[in-house]
Amino acid sequence: MSEADCAALIMAAGSGERFGGDMPKQYRLLAGKPVLRHTVEAFLDHPAVNRVRVVINPEHREHCVAALAGLDVGEPVAGGPSRQASVRHGLEALSAAPPGFVLVQDGVRPLTDAGTIERVRRALDASPAAIAAVPVVDTLKREREGVSAGTVDRSGLWRAQTPQGFAYDVILRAHRDAADGEITDDAAVAERTGLPVALVPGSEDNLKVTTEDDLARAEALIAARAGEIRVGNGFDVHAFGPGDHVTLCGITIPHEKGLVAHSDGDVGLHAITDAVLGALGAGDIGQHFPPSDPRWKGQDSAAFLRHAADMAAAAGGRIVHVDVTLICERPKIGPHRDAMKARIGEILGAGVAVSVKATTSEGLGFTGRGEGIAAQATATLRLPPGGG
Ligand code: MG
Repeated sequence: MSEADCAALIMAAGSGERFGGDMPKQYRLLAGKPVLRHTVEAFLDHPAVNRVRVVINPEHREHCVAALAGLDVGEPVAGGPSRQASVRHGLEALSAAPPGFVLVQDGVRPLTDAGTIERVRRALDASPAAIAAVPVVDTLKREREGVSAGTVDRSGLWRAQTPQGFAYDVILRAHRDAADGEITDDAAVAERTGLPVALVPGSEDNLKVTTEDDLARAEALIAARAGEIRVGNGFDVHAFGPGDHVTLCGITIPHEKGLVAHSDGDVGLHAITDAVLGALGAGDIGQHFPPSDPRWKGQDSAAFLRHAADMAAAAGGRIVHVDVTLICERPKIGPHRDAMKARIGEILGAGVAVSVKATTSEGLGFTGRGEGIAAQATATLRLPPGGG
């Protein structure tokens, strides 16, 4: 056993009280990931935590395995009939290689921040038990038969959160002595044995997902941390001229005409490039790659789009989605659409949703008369808070 060795026990053994849908709340999706996965990752990623085990309701084993695929959490520990019993099972599961400290965490607190984990862990250097908590700021009322029966003095009152941290041997002994009670707060098990429990500041954002509203609040907090959404649009036209092929969205298509351009004339990639630059507020393709510059003669337009994508990455942003519409009578786009999507995905990298659409202009205008091809595009980017 090493004094510095700190394990985290993530408690997800809840009976599966559901607040909608068929999925127990710890396995519901939050910002595209199961609630429990958010919680587990916060502890796996924390430098003060050396190992993480998860305590589950054995009936949810399949949900758990799917939710935590690829994460280093070992075999899930089967919980017991009460919260207290489940924590004890988790503590016993660590006993083969006892850690110096253990942090007990609600699996449905997906937004616990690194600072809170750090404060609880640090407090254990001076106290055998420490819990995250926030002072009560609202005025408290005692209710009797639907009306207020008076104001409760809130001074000195805190709301307990998790993680709740303990010297491992001390909390294991306390749990063994407490037998099978119904104590829902882990610190209360420690208090029962007369141990001092330090209170360290948690966070108002460290919420427990118990209702559908909590899930929506958690979703909004994650979105705020993820930064803002920016949408840019782009438009481009090239005229037909002599040639035997056109290049559209990175795909070469045999055709009885070519497109007149300094580069390869790929209206699709040009429109997407301008859309990305637009979302970044970074000018247009002509400013970055002036047609007068001989370097871009016959250029594969993938380089233009890659440059815009690199600018987005340098700004700490992420391209979420691009959508392009090609406007022409001929060539027919349909047979090439999948290849175009794949090529754009290749240029932008994994994780970008790509849409390629096509339309004619019903014989009207310059595209209708077959004088050229137009393209318009939209790009959706996520930029860090205050970025761009
Ligand atoms: Mg162009």
